[in-house]
Amino acid sequence: MQKINEQSVIVIGAGVGGLASAKALSTMFGKVLIIDRDTMPDGAEPRVGVPQSRQVHVLLGGGLRALNTLVPGFEDKLVAAGANRARVGSEIRVEVPGLPVLPERPFEFHSMCMTRPLLESVLRREVLATPNVELLEQANVMELLASEDGSRVVAVKVLRRSGEEEVHKADFFVDAASRADLTPKLLDKLDMPRPVDTEIGIDLNYSTAVFDIPAEATGPWKAVIHRPDPADGRAGFLFPIENGKWHVNLNSVHGDGAGRTPEEFLEFAYSLRTHTIYDALKAGTIDGKINKFILKASSRRRYEDLDRFPGRLIVIGDAICRYNPAYGQGMSVASQEAAALREVFAERLALDNPLDGIAPDYFQRMATILGAPWSVAESDFVYPETRGERSPDVMERMRVNKTLLRLAYDDPKMHHLWAEVTNLIKPATTLLEDPWREILSQDAPPLPPEAEALVPRRRAAE
Ligand SMILES: Cc1cc2nc3c(=O)[nH]c(=O)nc-3n(C[C@H](O)[C@H](O)[C@H](O)COP(=O)(O)OP(=O)(O)OC[C@H]3O[C@@H](n4cnc5c(N)ncnc54)[C@H](O)[C@@H]3O)c2cc1C
Repeated sequence: MQKINEQSVIVIGAGVGGLASAKALSTMFGKVLIIDRDTMPDGAEPRVGVPQSRQVHVLLGGGLRALNTLVPGFEDKLVAAGANRARVGSEIRVEVPGLPVLPERPFEFHSMCMTRPLLESVLRREVLATPNVELLEQANVMELLASEDGSRVVAVKVLRRSGEEEVHKADFFVDAASRADLTPKLLDKLDMPRPVDTEIGIDLNYSTAVFDIPAEATGPWKAVIHRPDPADGRAGFLFPIENGKWHVNLNSVHGDGAGRTPEEFLEFAYSLRTHTIYDALKAGTIDGKINKFILKASSRRRYEDLDRFPGRLIVIGDAICRYNPAYGQGMSVASQEAAALREVFAERLALDNPLDGIAPDYFQRMATILGAPWSVAESDFVYPETRGERSPDVMERMRVNKTLLRLAYDDPKMHHLWAEVTNLIKPATTLLEDPWREILSQDAPPLPPEAEALVPRRRAAE
């Protein structure tokens, strides 16, 4: 058997999942080729292959840690390029229905605020600076090609923008092409069952715009997260991006969204439960247009349950699971998956044939990583209109979460735990373990009257 450092891998897709897995595998494989259908911009520009490019994108603490392990110094490089650190517990104002804003407690980790193209451009620059990684642009992968006996993937068929067709061979393949469905189509061709696709239907209507906001119209925070009231599903975010500008996002689950004009946008902000975002917007000026994105459902493909799967192939990122983006999880999960992919390979290096039979190990590991973010996505079952099959324990998990948030107001330890879970630093299953299980087994106690008075509310009509 050839040594792994003499073998090659093709990664399809140069999004966050593709770039992170290329970097992860570059430490073991001799050659990594990333193939993408887009032309990559020189700097931080949106591109068509990532239609969500213009939408607000935050990198959670857990995702940042994963990227820091894959690309040493990633965080400082991101900041040097114009991203903003926002310390969790003190610099992000989180407005949750029925609760006061939690007391300021600066925790030891932060989230990163910037545009999605900035994050991707820094990651792309760092990954492509790796000597054994190359990028093939303007190359649409049409098909994964299997060996004659159908047991493993051996090549990809590519249509170049020039119109030419090419076949690229490699020893291993990573499908990071989001919803291009390359792997499900290959399974059809090989007469193997597709993974079950579990959906949570949310009809999310998402709108993001760039704003200039004068400093006096913002508060003692770096960012605002306004969580929806289950009664109307309306929410919003205010995140600092490059050059002192702001990303303002307004969204609704099962609703009409924020409209297309600045006036409608402002009106929607006014309709939120508090006026934090509205006050900043009213004093600000829009820079460009309002960009919309509709997501019908969170969806998770259960590759871990398949008995048959072609060899020499794995799937990563949105190609496995995509979530309601309001929880800000996708890039972080893709980065954590890539870090885990490196570990799975590292554990197999001693085997005679480390590239074969990796799928069961890998997809099981992914299922463990996906447990936490998927459980967050399931909180959308709080809306009666949400479609999909509810796990038997989903209501209990929501109750545990409510108790945790309520206790987080009084108790710094509970606040820290909640921040770790929502930043994907600790899995949600931690809440079911001692000592937390016992503490969280009770319903949330009522707020004391002095705290009740601090719950932020909408002003009377102006
Ligand atoms: C509206 C919205 C807002 C979001 N906000 C956040 C957020 O705040 N925080 C967060 O962490 N995540 C967020 N996400 C999720 C995040 O964008 C994705 O989870 C993340 O980009 C996963 O990356 P990926 O590499 O799997 O896919 P992508 O980043 O989408 O990349 C897929 C790549 O594959 C290429 N490609 C596709 N088909 C082919 C083909 N046939 N041949 C060659 N190349 C191909 C595309 O050009 C693209 O480069 C958001 C998502 C949406 C929809």
